[in-house]
Amino acid sequence: MVHTSYIELSKSAYKNNLKFIRSQVGSHVTISSVVKGNAYGHGIENTVKIAESAGIRHFSTFSTDEAIRVEASSTKNSEIMIMGMVDNESIPYLIQHEISFYVFELDRLRCAIETSKTLGKKAKIHVEVETGFHRTGFEWEERTALAEVLLSNRENLQLCGLCTHYAGAESVGNYVRIQNQIKTYLEFKQWFQEKGLYFDKYHTACSAASLSYPETIMDMVRIGIAQYGFWPSQETYMFKFKQLAPNMKNPLKRLISWKSQVMSVKKVKIGDFVGYGNSYMASRNMTIALVPIGYCHGFSRNLSNLGKVLIHGKILPVVGTVTMNAISIDITDLQKARKGDEVVIIGRQKRNEITVASFGESTQQVNYELLTRLPHDIPRKIIS
Ligand SMILES: *Cc1c(COP(=O)(O)O)cnc(C)c1O
Repeated sequence: MVHTSYIELSKSAYKNNLKFIRSQVGSHVTISSVVKGNAYGHGIENTVKIAESAGIRHFSTFSTDEAIRVEASSTKNSEIMIMGMVDNESIPYLIQHEISFYVFELDRLRCAIETSKTLGKKAKIHVEVETGFHRTGFEWEERTALAEVLLSNRENLQLCGLCTHYAGAESVGNYVRIQNQIKTYLEFKQWFQEKGLYFDKYHTACSAASLSYPETIMDMVRIGIAQYGFWPSQETYMFKFKQLAPNMKNPLKRLISWKSQVMSVKKVKIGDFVGYGNSYMASRNMTIALVPIGYCHGFSRNLSNLGKVLIHGKILPVVGTVTMNAISIDITDLQKARKGDEVVIIGRQKRNEITVASFGESTQQVNYELLTRLPHDIPRKIIS
């Protein structure tokens, strides 16, 4: 092992999750795999490979650079959709490469039309409408001007989608807001249809909306967190759990495991301090294992004297401060631990598991943030 740790991605877990999502959304709905944020930390290239092998043919990104990475990793000529940042300068590339993108302002729309005219090729666009998220999207008041532009430039535009995004479908506290968003979206849809504007796909749902608001599923769903085996929130899980068969456990399986190994083992006498400063004093004669991951690898300093890892299936505590490259683990009660033994930082070992959430620095940190902060340069490998 050249690197100090590596991340494993389970293909069978992905297949399992996709099967569950499919059972929830129905057989005729396109599932777009959302791979923004380096595929929620899993790595775009690996995720595209795994997802395509499971049958996915549609990917969503936030930006052009991510779309280019999906394009380079795809071997199935999958469709790619950009939901966020597109510089006008990138539009010629996107049209040439048939990558679709969201349009939520007239400036980008006009640029798409002009570029399409120059290239003699249609721009593939998704019209995003404002329904109450207040991030991006055409306002209700803009609909007439927008429709005019769309209608008078039909030969330059492929209307791939009419879309919106919900403001927190993972929490019941947002129930009324979501209901209003659904209503507003349907008003937009109907209004455009009355003007003779139809879109290839109507799509609004992320993972939480797909699981908790079935009426949002429509023609396509944009699934991020659930495909990686995480619930959008505890609430979404509890809501779904009540509907599942009584003998069914968690239907989602985490793809990711993060592993390292014991770098060296050392004895420490009672009263000695471990590591920098005096944050940890040995309260008995101890054996300490050094593990070569630290805050430069995303193992937060806040986990000093708090973090846990698995060795030989046993949950063991971090002692002393987390340093840049290493942590010390108390292995006094695990005398068989040796240099080179596997250390699990996230994932399962024998009967125990360290979850991504328990690896968090604070209770405010959600899976989304923890995953995307996993350093890009830890090697990822796909396992069956
Ligand atoms: C991130 C994102 C999604 C996916 O959200 P999940 O909660 O991870 O399923 C869907 N749509 C848009 C517009 C997004 O930005």
